Amino acid sequence: MSEIPSREMILKGLQTEMPITIFGTTTFDTKNVGLVIVDEVNGFCQPGAGNLAPPAPDGVIEAMIDLTNKLARQFVDKRKPIMIFKDTHNLDVPEPPYPPHCVKGTGEEELVEKLQWLEKEYGDSMEILEKDCINGFIGSIDNIGNRVQDWVEFENLEAIVVVGICTDICDLQFVQTILSARNHGMLGRLTDIVVVVPACATYDLPLEITQVIGLPTTAAHPRDLTQHIGLYLMQASGAILTNEIILD
Ligand SMILES: [Zn+2]
Repeated sequence: MSEIPSREMILKGLQTEMPITIFGTTTFDTKNVGLVIVDEVNGFCQPGAGNLAPPAPDGVIEAMIDLTNKLARQFVDKRKPIMIFKDTHNLDVPEPPYPPHCVKGTGEEELVEKLQWLEKEYGDSMEILEKDCINGFIGSIDNIGNRVQDWVEFENLEAIVVVGICTDICDLQFVQTILSARNHGMLGRLTDIVVVVPACATYDLPLEITQVIGLPTTAAHPRDLTQHIGLYLMQASGAILTNEIILD
C-alpha cells in the first residue's frame, strides 16, 4: 500500500496543480465599494462558545477578526457602506448536517466582542442580516425581495469586498452566488468581487480527530487544504483574491 502523503505535501500539490493568484494590494479608483462581513459571530469564532466554535484560542480566527476590524474602521471613516451577516437560527429549525449553533438568544449569534462597536454605534446606517442558511444571498431573501440585491442597487455599488468565516462554506457560497447574480444582470453596476484572503478563515478538524470525537470521517476538514480549495473555487468563479485593499 502506498503511503499517504503528509498534509504539507498535499497542500504543496494543490498549490502546484490548482494554483491561485493573490494580489498584494487592490485599489478601486473611483468605484463605489461596499464591505460584506460574513458570520464573524461568537458561535463560529469565540473559543468554547458552542458546537461550531473553536475549542481553544485560535490565532487564524483572531487574525481574521483583527483585520476585519481594521477594514471596518476604514469603511466607516470613509462613509462607505457595510453589510453584516450573522448566522442566526430558531431552536426548532435545524440546519443539517450541522449540530445546533447560533441559536437566537444564546449570544452565539452575536458579533464577536471586537466588532460589536459596529452594530452599537453604526447599526442604523448599515445592513445587518440574520441568516439561517449557509448562503447569505439566499438567506437574504424575504417576502419583500432580496436584501443583498436591494443594498447593492441602493448604494450603487461597483465593487464588493468580502471577509469572514468560513472561507470554503459561507464565504464561498455567497461569493459564487453573487458572481452568478452579477453575470445574470441582477446587480446593477456591480463588477468586482474582491476577497481579502487574510481576513477569511476556516476551521480545523483533522481526519484523526473526527475518529476521536465520534464523527464520521466525512466531517474531516483540514484547515490549510480547505482554505486553499475555498479560495481556488472563488477565484475560478471570477473573484479577485487580494492580501490588502486600499480605499481612496
Ligand atoms: Zn447556521
